[in-house]
Amino acid sequence: MNTFPKIIPSLRTQHITYAIRDILAIANERKAAGGDLIFLNIGDPLLFDFDTPPHLIEATYQAMKERHNGYSPSEGIGIAIDAIHKQAVADGIVPTDILITTGASEGIDLALSALVNHGENVLVPSPGYPLYNALLSRLLAEGKPYILDENNNWQPDIAHMESQIDAKTKAIVLINPNNPTGAIYTEDTLREIIKLAIKYHLVILSDEIYDKLILNSQKHISIASLNRDIPIVTFNGISKCYLAPGFRIGWAIISGARELTEDYVEGMKKLARARLCACHPEQYAIPAALQNGLSHLQLPLEKLKRRRDLTVEMLNAIPGISCQVPNGAFYAFPKVDVPISDEEFVKHLIRETGVVVVHGSGFGPFPASPHFRLAFLPTENELEKAYSRLDGFMRKHYGA
Ligand code: PLP
Repeated sequence: MNTFPKIIPSLRTQHITYAIRDILAIANERKAAGGDLIFLNIGDPLLFDFDTPPHLIEATYQAMKERHNGYSPSEGIGIAIDAIHKQAVADGIVPTDILITTGASEGIDLALSALVNHGENVLVPSPGYPLYNALLSRLLAEGKPYILDENNNWQPDIAHMESQIDAKTKAIVLINPNNPTGAIYTEDTLREIIKLAIKYHLVILSDEIYDKLILNSQKHISIASLNRDIPIVTFNGISKCYLAPGFRIGWAIISGARELTEDYVEGMKKLARARLCACHPEQYAIPAALQNGLSHLQLPLEKLKRRRDLTVEMLNAIPGISCQVPNGAFYAFPKVDVPISDEEFVKHLIRETGVVVVHGSGFGPFPASPHFRLAFLPTENELEKAYSRLDGFMRKHYGA
């Protein structure tokens, strides 16, 4: 047995990082030493005082009792696809195809895997959700970051986006509302992105998983509603807006002229068939979710607005920290004026105060100055406790 060589992981795993969970190793060290922790690092509402709406649970339980426990069709069950189609049309999208997936994550995986070859690249927002880079690393492809501009409400810098396009670019990813900045993109921004997609023949991959979590009067616009001809894949699901991340149910909506997308969609469908199906009984939660309006969000949105306001107010009162107002999702991405890297800053903060946030560089190389992400999901009391620890930490170490 001792001649058995150590197993070497494949090259494709080498550059995969996922800062949101990686940071937990540091938190666990503090916990092992008897320290307490305040978790502001993970965007899972179920860890806090937010509950999955009972009608989603009921529909899933009912489906299980009715023996919908075998495999489903690979693309998903008909009544759920119909419900997604209807919702998409209400959002101004004209879907040609819909795939139900294991979370939006799997939809993103299928869309990238069916599109990108070894050595090609895709434009990804920076800062942005790290899944895209992780999947692109796995495909031995490259995520090319484009700048989201903090001085322009974190809107994409279109000139920078264009400068990142080359002959190997296949798609533009946008995350709207954005994780980690909470920015909602304006119609003008979206129209500029469409112009680039047309000019350079790029697929638009639009992640709209937070589209109903809007914390101001701004209207969320699906980019696919602004152009019905070009290939766009819109991702959504029940993890965030329907408070059911553990159901692992999401979907990909393909729109644009069918003659342009048909082979690409067939590629996605082949991959979908190979993995059999998304969780079957949980797919019954989709029509339950989409056909029952948004009243389940009234209370959660009230809580989130209060917690967002408290976050922005308390953070901006700490010398050395400045925070833009996030208008969507449940994240803030404050800037921190420290002479060290944000990763060092965050590790030190966790070790000393137990406040667990994620370093900004875990979301991409831009902005180059130190930032961190927090999820303002905990109660106001917990948030106040976290921010006053942060305040004490800044005063102690940075003379603020
Ligand atoms: N897209 C973004 C921007 C996210 O923030 C997340 C989760 O945090 C996901 C996708 C994953 O969604 P799902 O749980 O549906 O896989």
